[in-house]
Amino acid sequence: MSLEVMLSFLEQNMVLRVRLKFENLWMPATSITIFWTAKFNTLLIVLCVELFISLSISFLFFLEVIVFMTANHDPCVFCKIVSGEIPSTKVYEDELVFSFLDINPVNPGHLLIIPKVHSRLVREIDPKTVGHIFEVAQKLSIALRNSGLNCEGITFSLADGVAAGQEVQHSHLHLIPRFDGDKFKISFGSSSERPKREDLEKTAQKIKNAI
Ligand code: AMP
Ligand code: ZN
Repeated sequence: MSLEVMLSFLEQNMVLRVRLKFENLWMPATSITIFWTAKFNTLLIVLCVELFISLSISFLFFLEVIVFMTANHDPCVFCKIVSGEIPSTKVYEDELVFSFLDINPVNPGHLLIIPKVHSRLVREIDPKTVGHIFEVAQKLSIALRNSGLNCEGITFSLADGVAAGQEVQHSHLHLIPRFDGDKFKISFGSSSERPKREDLEKTAQKIKNAI
């Protein structure tokens, strides 16, 4: 088994390549290569089998580079906002979080609060930052109410996962100013029958067991 570590710079992007290779007399050599790019914060794992050991090493490297170049490196739009690569209308920033106006607001003042470190789901965010997001949300909710914008109430909304309606895969908390007669609609679509208390207890027990 051998291990190669290579650090290179490609168009001002730091690329770390770690290649782990296994081989014995009976098996073709197999290698696992892990690429990590700083700019895109992307991890790519490539598994290859080398059939012709001597020639294939250079071929394999070539193949890995092709896979790497053609893989989907779509950088996260909210990470780009944090780094300033794309414009945003910032309302607040500190060392842990960034807040800006939603480009497609439900009502004027609709803003988003995001962790600066890329995290797709709430469970991936450092707990200290999760708490801080809510502290900032409280501060900004007070600002919204005092801003003169139409803000009789505020909907705090966070879609955690695609099934929950998350479109941008960088966790974000919406603060949506609300007022009587606005067009915002939310429906919980609850079942028509109320569950029995024992069913609620069973459900609660499942959650408690998982804590
Ligand atoms: P969600 O459905 O909770 O993932 O919402 C994503 C939100 O991000 C939507 O309300 C979009 O309008 C908003 N959004 C997407 N791209 C941008 C952007 N570049 N600047 C500001 N808001 C954005
Ligand atoms: Zn991101």
